[in-house]
Amino acid sequence: MSTENKVEMIRGGQFIVKETNPSEVFTPEDFTDEQKMMRDSVQEFVDKEIVPHKERFEKKDYALTEEVMRKAGEMGFLGIAVPEEYDGLGMGFVSTMLVCDYISGATGSIATAFGAHTGIGTMPITLYGTEEQKKKYVPKLATGEWFGAYCLTEPGAGSDANSGKTKAELTADGKHYKINGQKMWISNAGFCNVFVVFARLEDDKNITGFIVENDSSNGISMGEEEHKLVYTPLLLVRYSLMIVWYQ
Ligand SMILES: Cc1cc2nc3c(=O)[nH]c(=O)nc-3n(C[C@H](O)[C@H](O)[C@H](O)COP(=O)(O)OP(=O)(O)OC[C@H]3O[C@@H](n4cnc5c(N)ncnc54)[C@H](O)[C@@H]3O)c2cc1C
Repeated sequence: MSTENKVEMIRGGQFIVKETNPSEVFTPEDFTDEQKMMRDSVQEFVDKEIVPHKERFEKKDYALTEEVMRKAGEMGFLGIAVPEEYDGLGMGFVSTMLVCDYISGATGSIATAFGAHTGIGTMPITLYGTEEQKKKYVPKLATGEWFGAYCLTEPGAGSDANSGKTKAELTADGKHYKINGQKMWISNAGFCNVFVVFARLEDDKNITGFIVENDSSNGISMGEEEHKLVYTPLLLVRYSLMIVWYQ
């Protein structure tokens, strides 16, 4: 369980106008022994498993990306912010920040794969899933047995994400949703096991998140890999008549 210090939260633009209490300014000298241990172990992991292979990650070596992500899972780095009851380490913000900082500093490709999996791939289910969904998916995601991806962006919907055209329709038996649509620039789509897909239920002004397992029998087809300045594993994903597990 986390032993991290608690300080008053600064909200919005308060940092510009609020008087700062020097005792609340956090510096590396304030790291606890637990945080220093986490920093040292992630630094060792990055130096050994990522830095020597930078070129291979940037040249789209998916097998290596998966292998390193799995090792990161075994080391607990993928589940650092996930509660212990779902097989995470349940550590606080500072330890999570340290792991992200070191992994992100190594190379753009693995940083995106890591960030997409731990952040937008795992957290929507951890924070907003039902208990049944959390028990089913989060332990697998936290340990690196499975990988996650997040499908929000569409060819006509980027910053204005709520304008997405992907539709979700309840089946006649009321047990599943059928999702139809197209998503693009989806990090980790090439090797993930589960997607969080955003789609619009009939006449809803807002979009809704659905958990979709990456199984070709679900009617998912992948587009061509995009070339990028610094390589990140982004793909176009097309959903048609896909049956979705839901609570
Ligand atoms: C490395 C990477 C990984 C990604 N991974 C994922 C992923 O895993 N899943 C996913 O769903 N998406 C992913 N994306 C897509 C990303 O979320 C979108 O690129 C983003 O939402 C912006 O959309 P857009 O690129 O269509 O830009 P646009 O929305 O077209 O914006 C273009 C420019 O216009 C500006 N702009 C837009 N609207 C306004 C406005 N109203 N007023 C002023 N300026 C405005 C923006 O700030 C931007 O500078 C990824 C993108 C990158 C680069």
